[in-house]
Amino acid sequence: MKIICIGRNYVNHAAELGNDMPTEPLFFLKPETAIQPKGHPFFIPYFSNDIHYEVELVIKINKNGKHIEEQFAHTYYSQIGLGIDFTARDIQDECKAKGLPWERAKGFDGSAQISRTFINKSEFDLNDISFQLEKNGVIVQNGNSSDMVFNFDKIIAYLSTFYTLKTGDLIYTGTPAGVGKVIEGDTLKGFITDKEMLKVVVK
Ligand code: ZN
Repeated sequence: MKIICIGRNYVNHAAELGNDMPTEPLFFLKPETAIQPKGHPFFIPYFSNDIHYEVELVIKINKNGKHIEEQFAHTYYSQIGLGIDFTARDIQDECKAKGLPWERAKGFDGSAQISRTFINKSEFDLNDISFQLEKNGVIVQNGNSSDMVFNFDKIIAYLSTFYTLKTGDLIYTGTPAGVGKVIEGDTLKGFITDKEMLKVVVK
């Protein structure tokens, strides 16, 4: 199983980090070990002083495919969940400045938080899925799939030109504006529409 994450897929988030908009999807991978074991708190890794939350809609691939045409991409996923792409922003900034890959900032243990339940995509208008992240009871990120630069189908078609997508692969589809730092003692809760999907306690 692999975890593929899309970067800069919301204009307002790219702007808050001072990045230009990509002309094609920007992506990176996390290892399977980045998935937080069920029920465990998230421990801030010792090597960073600036861990950021990024709440994202996550699609789960349901059959194997390569070179998938955009018009058929919708048949490769049936469920949507919610995740947090934890990012060591201090290390990512260093990697960007040196032109190095981002994996050190993006792939650590626990960096891929994922909801344990997924929702059938037939329950949504895929171009109008609202999602939120709450930190200590205050909404800090408020997104809607309508603001994605590259929609789910475009992402799948693009990624499958490079990689074979396999059943069970997870694709994190990018974060809206409002990313920020977590500290010990924070509680994060993620929602799709009004449904609580995910809760993370930071230690
Ligand atoms: Zn992200």
